[in-house]
Amino acid sequence: MQLIEVGSARADKAGRFDGALKVAEHPDGSPVEIPVTIVRGAKDGPVMWMHACVHGDEYCGTFNVHSFVRSLDPAEMTGTVIALPILNITAFRAYHRMSPFEGFNNGDMNRCFPGNPNGGFTEQMAHVVYQHLKKYATHLVDFHTAFTADTRWALYADTGGDVSKGGRLMAEAFGYENTLPTPKGTLVGSAMMSAAADGIPAYIAEAGGLGTSFSMETVKDVTERLRNVARAIGILPGEVTKYEPLTTFSNFHWANAPRGGLFRPSVRTGIQVQEGDVVGTYYNLHGEADGDVTAPASGVVLAYHPGPIIPQGDVLIHIGLNPQTA
Ligand SMILES: [Zn+2]
Repeated sequence: MQLIEVGSARADKAGRFDGALKVAEHPDGSPVEIPVTIVRGAKDGPVMWMHACVHGDEYCGTFNVHSFVRSLDPAEMTGTVIALPILNITAFRAYHRMSPFEGFNNGDMNRCFPGNPNGGFTEQMAHVVYQHLKKYATHLVDFHTAFTADTRWALYADTGGDVSKGGRLMAEAFGYENTLPTPKGTLVGSAMMSAAADGIPAYIAEAGGLGTSFSMETVKDVTERLRNVARAIGILPGEVTKYEPLTTFSNFHWANAPRGGLFRPSVRTGIQVQEGDVVGTYYNLHGEADGDVTAPASGVVLAYHPGPIIPQGDVLIHIGLNPQTA
């Protein structure tokens, strides 16, 4: 067996290997290290790379990765799982989407891949991570959340050929009904689309909400769905569960809040809205209703802002366009 090495996690035989990968340095010169777990099976095979907290406050993903890794038994595996449960750790510690150490460049790590060794703080971190991903991964699963605990939708890179086929396979095996086959040119700079450009099928699960907005039921459900992905790509033995057919979209519409204020949404995820339907109401500081906000497009609600206050320009609603059930 050839050595698989990500930072100090070194797997040269079957088993579980924990370690850390240095991705940057803090302003005081101390290392920024992120946790890595490699679980390697008795036989070589596919390498499923998974990571979470590319956005630091999307904690549900970390719990998903931890739970899945705990469920693995190297003796029954063909291939390897490489898990990085907290990618953007300085943001994670600060309870923020982006790193507090990002000074001048784009701090959204999911727009920084494949990274840049001469770029800003987040681009340099992404570069270190991506070099390892590109070297080892045959499949990528990236965990995100939206705002609310009821979030459950997914994306896969649909850039053609085997990348699309592999992405579709993971999407069907994970089985979140609402799924966006993501065309080239969308989500540029995401780990998913960067991996796809390098021939690696890639999948994003949007499971649960920001911060504490998720339940351990979600984590348990995701763990079983991930095990089904691992069965579908041949890492775990056993029958692949067939979930309900996917509802796919032509793309998504991502609308920002046109104004600030106290805000209560009147939608939930998974429902259909028509353009012009009321999706939430603003209130002024005296408690009077101060205008409705309407859906900017027709489609399925994938995510929405929960309030209770909304800054102007924050993401208000995410709508999947032209839903089609295959
Ligand atoms: Zn995210």
